[in-house]
Amino acid sequence: MARRERGQGPGGRFSCPHCTYSTNLKGDFKRHQLTHTGEKPHECTFCGKRFSLKGNLQVHLHVHARQINLY
Ligand SMILES: [Zn+2]
Ligand SMILES: [Zn+2]
Repeated sequence: MARRERGQGPGGRFSCPHCTYSTNLKGDFKRHQLTHTGEKPHECTFCGKRFSLKGNLQVHLHVHARQINLY
């Protein structure tokens, strides 16, 4: 897989080549790559996004909880 560097994107300096995810933190970026390349058994029932770590999914679910409260 060719390495893609988009420079200064709107979200962060590390842009995921597989989706629109971007971050300034290399550690977060490497962890995010696991959702594409590694095990990702934890799937969000709201949007279908997959997570390699159950803890990440639980944190992500709070996003939907806030969205639901807005409606
Ligand atoms: Zn991605
Ligand atoms: Zn979700």
